[in-house]
Amino acid sequence: MKIHNFNAGPSVLPKEVVKKSAQSIINFNGSGLSLLEISHRSIDFLEIIEKATFLIKRIMNLNDDYAILFLQGGATLQFSMVPYNLMNQEASYLDTGFWAHNAIKEAKKFGKVKVLFSGKNKNYTYISTNYHIPCDMDYFHCTSNNTIVGTQMKIFPRTSIPIVCDMSSDIFSRKLDFCQFGLIYASAQKNVSSAGMTIVIVKKNILGTIRKNIPSYMDYKIHIQNNSILNTPNVFSIYTSMLTLKWIENQGGLSFLEKNNQKKAKLLYDEIDQNNLFENKIHQENRSNMNVTFFLKEKNLEKEFNKMWKKENIVGLDGHRYLGGYRASIYNALPLESVQFLIEIMKEFERKFS
Ligand code: PMP
Repeated sequence: MKIHNFNAGPSVLPKEVVKKSAQSIINFNGSGLSLLEISHRSIDFLEIIEKATFLIKRIMNLNDDYAILFLQGGATLQFSMVPYNLMNQEASYLDTGFWAHNAIKEAKKFGKVKVLFSGKNKNYTYISTNYHIPCDMDYFHCTSNNTIVGTQMKIFPRTSIPIVCDMSSDIFSRKLDFCQFGLIYASAQKNVSSAGMTIVIVKKNILGTIRKNIPSYMDYKIHIQNNSILNTPNVFSIYTSMLTLKWIENQGGLSFLEKNNQKKAKLLYDEIDQNNLFENKIHQENRSNMNVTFFLKEKNLEKEFNKMWKKENIVGLDGHRYLGGYRASIYNALPLESVQFLIEIMKEFERKFS
């Protein structure tokens, strides 16, 4: 049975990655042991971390100035780990959505936060580029893709201070100059792997300037010294991420995925724009290529539309509980045919009800 999985996260993963990671739980690399039964300090596991690190650097074109970490605590822990390691006095943030807002809330516990732009009073439907980053800030924090409302930063500002970016919902989806960032973090459950692991990519020379004691687990430098195995890591999630990174390269890397993601998103936005029954509320230039949100113009048709897509084995199309409406998350592993299928359903709905 074909299921079209539009879940926002945890979400669709490449079939071959799911299959291989499932096999590894029964018998890892023909060893007769499960991946879940081997030591995180064994040669076999160290090879996995090494391979995943190597692949991230190659895919993102990063040199050894950057360290790659595989941590726990989700992106949520990064909301405090970032200021713990980088904030002496004051940092600047963009308030572009629910998660960005949470990042700001946590950072305020560590020092002063200057919010350079907030989209809150416009329901986060656009992201301004019209702000100035003072150069005396400790860092600048932004969220590249706002998973709930469906906006995406298409350009990043130029600044002399470190740019910290939450890429949880669009990492590995497009080509960027990743060297412009001082620190990137992404929790795993969308384009990378199973939940329970966060990738942190940090330029080593931005660390070590902080004038306070940092608890060991919260200290990036200690994780770098310990090669992400300060404590027992999420072995399964790291293995699955390594498989996904291999899949990304086999697909043709970020250039291919970017083109494919643009194609899927354009098809869907075009349909929403021309369909009489639906609308998208995001400013054109900020529409996300990962999370496409849309609403019925007439709310009373909701029951009928829900009945229709649910009957067709489409899952995960409900909008976020704060927002309502619909959200099609079309991450890297979601096939083009699923987008085409959803469009057919929307067309059929229009034929029946408009
Ligand atoms: N930032 C963004 C952009 C997200 O989409 C999410 C989760 N969906 C988070 C942060 C929080 O991640 P976690 O649940 O792993 O802490």
